[in-house]
Amino acid sequence: MAKTKIDDYAAIIRPQNFDELMLLAERAAGKRVKMVNATAAGGGVAEILARIVPLLNELGIKTKWEVIKGSGEFFGVTKALHNALHGYKTEITEQMFDIYNEAAKANAAEMVFDEDAVIIHDPQPAGLIAAKEKSKSKWVWRCHIDTSHPQPDAWNFIKGFVDKYDASVFSTPWFSQELLIPQYFIYPAIDPLAEKNRELSRREINAVLNKYKIDSSRPIITQISRFDHLKDPLGVIEAYRLVKKHIDCQLVLAGGGAADDPEGSHVLQEVQEAAKADTDIHILLLPPFADIEINALQRASTIILQKSLREGFGLTVTEALWKGKPVVASAVGGITLQVIHDFTGVLVHSIEGAAFQIRYLLNNPQVARRLGEYGREHVREKFLITRKLRNYLLLLIALDHPGKDIIHSR
Ligand code: UDP
Repeated sequence: MAKTKIDDYAAIIRPQNFDELMLLAERAAGKRVKMVNATAAGGGVAEILARIVPLLNELGIKTKWEVIKGSGEFFGVTKALHNALHGYKTEITEQMFDIYNEAAKANAAEMVFDEDAVIIHDPQPAGLIAAKEKSKSKWVWRCHIDTSHPQPDAWNFIKGFVDKYDASVFSTPWFSQELLIPQYFIYPAIDPLAEKNRELSRREINAVLNKYKIDSSRPIITQISRFDHLKDPLGVIEAYRLVKKHIDCQLVLAGGGAADDPEGSHVLQEVQEAAKADTDIHILLLPPFADIEINALQRASTIILQKSLREGFGLTVTEALWKGKPVVASAVGGITLQVIHDFTGVLVHSIEGAAFQIRYLLNNPQVARRLGEYGREHVREKFLITRKLRNYLLLLIALDHPGKDIIHSR
């Protein structure tokens, strides 16, 4: 993983933003923080934590990252809760709540919470709040899911835990729910200097294309995602087939699994089955931390597709926009914060819509180029890790001033 220093970001963001970050770091320095989530690799949360934890430490915030443990059965339950909280109709039973509660108890018994702030990411570890009684820490629940229309049984279960926290953080006000505790809003973000996002040479990109036998002389449409129904990989294949009738192109569907997602192998099988007759469809099962490969695939692509049915934020969209790529994406969840229709990309609502827009952009490369350029600047302004660091520092400062709307810094 690329070793980056905070000063390296000064060349990428505006000077006043960099100075403000340094000022806030001075105010928050010395604080101790623990981040907790459900997987060390795979998915957006692990991606963000891997980058933000070392940078917070460099800024003087002593930050640890711990991952809860659980059986396959537990992660089956949390995946069902995840889908239901996204508003995707899912069966939730009382027995599932029991399995969840037992795993929460077992994890809490093994962990120590003595930091100034404990930041718990997503529903899987939310039940750790039971340990708050014995800890002096401030507890924050950081939700990365689009909880704007959750299934009520799943939300009421999670809300029972969340209301016991000192504060909550959502990715946007759109996802907010009525809670007894303060709510803060922090956008997810990417690290422009990570291996996944740094500039690559033509040679590095070609090496990855050669490895996977992808032809650089014909258009490449790519979706990078875990193999998950909510990412609609079968819809991606259908959209590609509609385009392929008119334009000779290739499809890359690349992704790996996540330790907390037990559905991946089943979805992958379905996708392989759907794609098997077409040698221009490349289904790539990537290992964890295939950062340069993902970077190269995104950079080599003519168009990046993100055909999700639900999406908390969609870091894969941010990664593509930062690389100046034209993005065709579903108008769901946090994607709509990133893709402003016809300005930083195009938003679609159906398979046919996706196919239509892909064809349009393949036939109009100057429009595609302009969308990519604006997309990159949109990410620079809003979705880079420096802005997220700033907001985490503000959160840490705010936790010391409960009930205050205005905090004077001197
Ligand atoms: N990712 C990865 N390997 C894969 C698939 C995805 O490293 O095989 C990364 C991807 O580049 C992005 C993150 O995992 O950084 C996915 O985040 P996103 O918010 O798009 O979706 P999530 O998986 O969290 O639902």
